[in-house]
Amino acid sequence: MTDVWFAGGRLADGSGREPREVDVCVTDGVITSIGQAPAGAMTVDLDGRLLTPGLIDAHVHLGLSSPIRAQFGFELSAAEIAADIFATTGHTLDAGFTTVRDTGGIDRGVVDVIAKGKVRGPRVLTCGPVQCQTGGHGYYGAAWEPTELWNEHHIPGLFALSLMSGNADELQRNVREAFRRGATFLKLCVTGGVVGGHDRLADTQFTVDEIALAVQEAAARGTYVTVHAHNNAGIRNAVRAGVRCVEHGTDIDEPTAALMHEHDVAVVPTFAVIEQILSPQGMDVDPSAVHRVAGVRDRMASALRISRAAGLRIGLGSDLIGPHQQRRGEELRLRSELESPMQALVSATSVNAKILGLEDLVGMVRVGMQADMVAWQSDPLDDAKAFADPEMAVLVVKNGHVVKDIR
Ligand SMILES: [Zn+2]
Repeated sequence: MTDVWFAGGRLADGSGREPREVDVCVTDGVITSIGQAPAGAMTVDLDGRLLTPGLIDAHVHLGLSSPIRAQFGFELSAAEIAADIFATTGHTLDAGFTTVRDTGGIDRGVVDVIAKGKVRGPRVLTCGPVQCQTGGHGYYGAAWEPTELWNEHHIPGLFALSLMSGNADELQRNVREAFRRGATFLKLCVTGGVVGGHDRLADTQFTVDEIALAVQEAAARGTYVTVHAHNNAGIRNAVRAGVRCVEHGTDIDEPTAALMHEHDVAVVPTFAVIEQILSPQGMDVDPSAVHRVAGVRDRMASALRISRAAGLRIGLGSDLIGPHQQRRGEELRLRSELESPMQALVSATSVNAKILGLEDLVGMVRVGMQADMVAWQSDPLDDAKAFADPEMAVLVVKNGHVVKDIR
């Protein structure tokens, strides 16, 4: 057991407390002491830099790392899709993210090869394939394709975007299938979406009874359901059915926020993907997405204010898709503009950890936690642009291992 002290920096521990000048001791991947490094200790010199917990992105799509239409048009080989996915997992670590929650797209094989250390990447939690109703959000195939063809787009062990259900029985079968394939939570699409092309943002999808069935299946395995939802009607259906978390939450109004608060339901706003769709170089999304995303940014900013006023637990997710996922920290920069850099950091660390159910493991630099940490070349709490620039995340530590060091 070797003690290594990360010394000479300032610590913002993820709780929201102002930075303080302390050293952090790591032993066997765990934070074992916070204070002053003893004389003669083995140290990593932070040279005055800000040290934060490793960032957490609560909404990623590692499996959508290739040009989208090419991927769903059978134009790319499994090798190319795999290469793109593993480039993204490395970029994610390099941007300072040590944990992500994949909200649809990867199969369990991706989680396992990262955990085994065969490819670079963050700790990954996954819902496996998204649950969507037949032709609803999460279906990226062409309208002419027979429904049965959809699962042929999957690459077992690597990639499976969604499972479609035409009724409650199929949904029950499909959520059990997601768990069989290694999901540790479930995601259902309960409204239309921006990217896809077969539905409208105002649509609701799945009935309250159907969503409740998935909640029951998740609860039986000690886990939870989160939902893709933009409009209030869909969010209210999901809250009534017992889900724990809402992704996007674009149109959350005061009554919906009050209902969410009453049921202790968290929200994960996703601003970076909106910026990405507004300037979609290389994403290869359906051009209708640009049209559909109009107005979403302002409405989501309003929903963020309403959610904050209602006292909701507000996480942070980038929802980046396509081949350019290097600047995952854009989500913190955008949230810093709307609130403050410290609020963005807290959402991306301790709050996200709580949403993921990992609050005893990661999300804070505290004795007993896994040593996931980032040292920043320039202080992102002074200028949040640093969050968005991977060059600024000069030292990244995951489970006590230095996985990036460009100091
Ligand atoms: Zn998403």
